[in-house]
Amino acid sequence: MRMLEITDLDVRYGQIQALKGVTLHVEQGEIVTLLGANGAGKTTLMRTISGLLRPHSGDVQFLGKSIAHTSADRIVGLGISQVPEGRRVFPTLTVMENLILGGYTRPPAETSASVEEVLVLFPRLRERARQLAGTLSGGEQQMLAIGRAMISKPKLLLLDEPSLGLAPIVVRDIFRALRKIRTQGLTILLVEQNARMALKFADRGYVMETGKIALQGNAIELLESPEVQATYLGK
Ligand code: ATP
Repeated sequence: MRMLEITDLDVRYGQIQALKGVTLHVEQGEIVTLLGANGAGKTTLMRTISGLLRPHSGDVQFLGKSIAHTSADRIVGLGISQVPEGRRVFPTLTVMENLILGGYTRPPAETSASVEEVLVLFPRLRERARQLAGTLSGGEQQMLAIGRAMISKPKLLLLDEPSLGLAPIVVRDIFRALRKIRTQGLTILLVEQNARMALKFADRGYVMETGKIALQGNAIELLESPEVQATYLGK
């Protein structure tokens, strides 16, 4: 059974058709990346999977069941967790409080075990456990946003542009942590502007253009594709 199966998905904002017949899938344990220029529809796709937007037509199936009309909080409960673009942490709560909130769908005892796992993954967050999230650096906020998403023990993690606006050295730390997460068997769908980083990390990728899938393949094929090199890798 596939982790995620999206079929002929159409999503609209009023008259604007943001997704036009998108079909893609993610297998269990895979890392799949979504590339594409600004406005291609990547965030719209992520928000539709997590239940924040409703499809006009087409379907989203998670582990064999349609979630196209399931509420966002039930989707978290089923095992999909999203780290939104712009790492929205609660700025006036501490790091620890932000993490605990990530466990709102689970019993408290399980949440504390997961918090401990996240603090092992991101030692920086342990050092700053009592600091207000709003005073963290951009990289630390991204770690916290990823950490918080991990607390709900997702089967599928949706990551929207984790490297956005971060220094290269911080991006490296984040991808190092994501590699560790990956060895725990988590499935990841990753939207990234940094195509090279994303394709080195992923197993497969899709390239979106104006609401459609323009190209797809395994990550190495895409890295070597002249079209991807010209448009996304600056070659
Ligand atoms: P970026 O990399 O810039 O985040 P993206 O690939 O994630 O881009 P989306 O944010 O999904 O693209 O946007 C897809 C299209 O839908 C764009 O044309 C955008 O202007 C439009 N759009 C997005 N959100 C809305 C909205 N709330 N209302 C109307 N149109 C929207």
